[in-house]
Amino acid sequence: MTRLFLGALLLPWLAGAWDYEGHRAVNQLALGALPTNFPVFVHGPVARERIAFLSGEPDRWRNTADTALRHVNGPDHFLDLEDLAPLGLKPETLPPLRYDYVAEVARHHVKASPEKKEDGAGAVGFLPWSITEWHARLKSSFGSLKVYEELGTEEEVANARQNVLYAMGVLGHFVGDASQPLHTTRHFNGWVGANPHGYTTSKRFHAWIDGGYMRKSGGLDSERMKKQLRAARALPLDAVGRKEGRVFTESVRFLVEQLQQVEPLYRLDKEGKLTGEGELGRSGRVLIEGQMVRGTQLLADLWLTAWLEAPPDNFLKARLVERKAGSKPAE
Ligand SMILES: [Zn+2]
Repeated sequence: MTRLFLGALLLPWLAGAWDYEGHRAVNQLALGALPTNFPVFVHGPVARERIAFLSGEPDRWRNTADTALRHVNGPDHFLDLEDLAPLGLKPETLPPLRYDYVAEVARHHVKASPEKKEDGAGAVGFLPWSITEWHARLKSSFGSLKVYEELGTEEEVANARQNVLYAMGVLGHFVGDASQPLHTTRHFNGWVGANPHGYTTSKRFHAWIDGGYMRKSGGLDSERMKKQLRAARALPLDAVGRKEGRVFTESVRFLVEQLQQVEPLYRLDKEGKLTGEGELGRSGRVLIEGQMVRGTQLLADLWLTAWLEAPPDNFLKARLVERKAGSKPAE
């Protein structure tokens, strides 16, 4: 993947996640895990390609020189979990709302790790908030689609469906990021700090794991990945039976789980299993594909949950009912 700002390679948010091919695979495979009661329009060839294409969109946003977009989009792609403790935060008790988290970090007045260029929450990352917010947007889009399908014009239904595809595709990018273990850690691009096991400190490691390695190893085996997938299911209710807040909790739990793969990944490298050459050098692909499968599974579950739980947009419904009755729509 082309990075236009090579001079800024040390900035964590310039390290990509899976390359476009990997993100496409996650979105495409997730479509295959959806149950038959999911809206069928997402399966048309044009819609499928739109969802696959959008898997790369949040990374395209990073190729901009515009500070405003770089500032807001960059940290959405990762969360360096080890950096929470110095801020007095724990994964289990993170504030589910983005600005509450920002305020909490600011309260601690802690400078970010020296190797990072920015202080505050932006240096630690926002990935679970990003996933939660895009899931909420998708739910909202489904909520309006449900109403337009009942009371809207053909054009409105078509537009509302496009919005669903958009939110599905972009959400897929961030869930894909969450399955790249290097997006959960301060060791995102070579081991940093104490290094008793002698893991690589190469600043090419992240890009290699994102895509270079799989390309050299012959590409993703999507058939093999497909076999590891189960059918999507809605997220379970939380311990006290609530729906509210589960997407955030599940996103954080998922990231913590992927953090456990960081050291195994570095170990594979040390054992020569990530060179891409020969049988040994290609054997690390099992872990990479397995990670993408995990992302795919969570994505399909999140898509399904958004569809099942989106309440019809009743405000919109009232306007459309008024319109149908021939009364002047309220402004
Ligand atoms: Zn990303």
